[in-house]
Amino acid sequence: MTTSAEWFDRARQVTPGGVNSPVRAFGSVGGTPPFSVKGEGAWLTDADGNRRVDFICGWGPLLLGHSHPEVVDAVQQTAADLMCPGGSTPGEVELAEAVVARLKQVDENAIDEVRLVSTGTEATMTAIRLARGVTGRDLIIKFSGCYHGHSDGLLAAAGSGLATLALPGSAGVPEPITSQTIVLPYNDLDAVRAAFTEHEGRIAAIIVEASAANMGVVPPLPGFNRGLAEICHTDGALLICDEVLTGFRTGPAGWWGREQEDPERGGWTPDIFTFGKVIGGGMPVAGLGARREIMETLAPNGPVYQGGTLSGNPVAVAAGIATLRLADDAVYAHIDASADRVIGAVKREFDLVGVPVAVQRVRNLFSFAMGDGADLGWSGVDEFGSPAPINEAEVKRQEGWRYPAFFHAMLDAGVNLPPSVFEAWFLSVAHDDEALAHFEAALPAAAEAAAAATP
Ligand code: PLP
Repeated sequence: MTTSAEWFDRARQVTPGGVNSPVRAFGSVGGTPPFSVKGEGAWLTDADGNRRVDFICGWGPLLLGHSHPEVVDAVQQTAADLMCPGGSTPGEVELAEAVVARLKQVDENAIDEVRLVSTGTEATMTAIRLARGVTGRDLIIKFSGCYHGHSDGLLAAAGSGLATLALPGSAGVPEPITSQTIVLPYNDLDAVRAAFTEHEGRIAAIIVEASAANMGVVPPLPGFNRGLAEICHTDGALLICDEVLTGFRTGPAGWWGREQEDPERGGWTPDIFTFGKVIGGGMPVAGLGARREIMETLAPNGPVYQGGTLSGNPVAVAAGIATLRLADDAVYAHIDASADRVIGAVKREFDLVGVPVAVQRVRNLFSFAMGDGADLGWSGVDEFGSPAPINEAEVKRQEGWRYPAFFHAMLDAGVNLPPSVFEAWFLSVAHDDEALAHFEAALPAAAEAAAAATP
């Protein structure tokens, strides 16, 4: 028995499913999850001493790689001085300033203030409460396949028809709560218009990932986000742009910032942003930001309550400040180039074994949908001209049964991929030539394993 398997056995005695977040249990790929003991740059070492190139990067936070020395140093120094003062600290101000400055570089009016919390779930939950408080309305719209954390109202599944109220997406979520949520297909502005017609003047907000990346990556069609902003602003609703995953990863001002660089996509500003992952650099920090008149509706100045014992914790914030300080244009250019290389290699090897893949990508964030998109009815097009899925229904039609064989062949060859075909792959600036060459060497056999897999 491996040491990881021993830990997994022990974990299952004291933790549900042996994990503290379900995807870690390897439910969709099978097998025993490695228990990590050390991370260095692009590499993760497990309890059995296996060293692997990591394409999860903590599910996004580690833009600079594992245990970047300057981030570690900031954490150690801060912890030695002050761990949990219960009052305000300079670091909270500095992190909020850094976030505001990055967004203002793109649009002076995008955001004035940030409230720090500890998880993305809290950030989106608070953003929705804030939108309801500001508008005095109750209904919210979310999109199938977009994930915004696990607050009750956002664990909603589509109802029986378009523009109908949603059903609970998890046991334990009361129907009266999800009946305040409308779940619509992603990339479908007509569905959004229909919902606004049916519920005119009752919708507080649309919440949308800046780019969908929790059903694999599904880029917004050009103009989709702008259309959402226009519909919201015509009706008096707010647009919440969830950049928990994409923020400060896909670009210095997130995927929203990247869209503003592109005339086909730009020209929209959400009312509330949510952030997480990279702004904590691997520590528990998330946040929400908006223009001053919206943010001033939050307690203590306004009537919308929100608080947190660990909100803006100095040790956590120190990791975020160090990460954002180091994440300059060169870092993004490096990771974008690494993404080109990884995507090119995967495309090449899958072509060789005759398994079509659609590249689902927003800059350095990507995943692959397997199968012949023409047969599967995918209505988008990827950067190679292949059909690609544009919403959850299309994504789910893929030959996902090929992924476990591919995943395990890569794992055995020393590559740590996301343990689900419906997750994005994450790179860091520490993914250097050695790490990428190691990945490329593992690919041919894994692509063959994917080709040989059966449903
Ligand atoms: N929003 C998005 C877009 C996410 O990807 C996630 C988590 O993956 C969340 C919110 C929730 O963040 P957390 O897991 O920190 O609660």
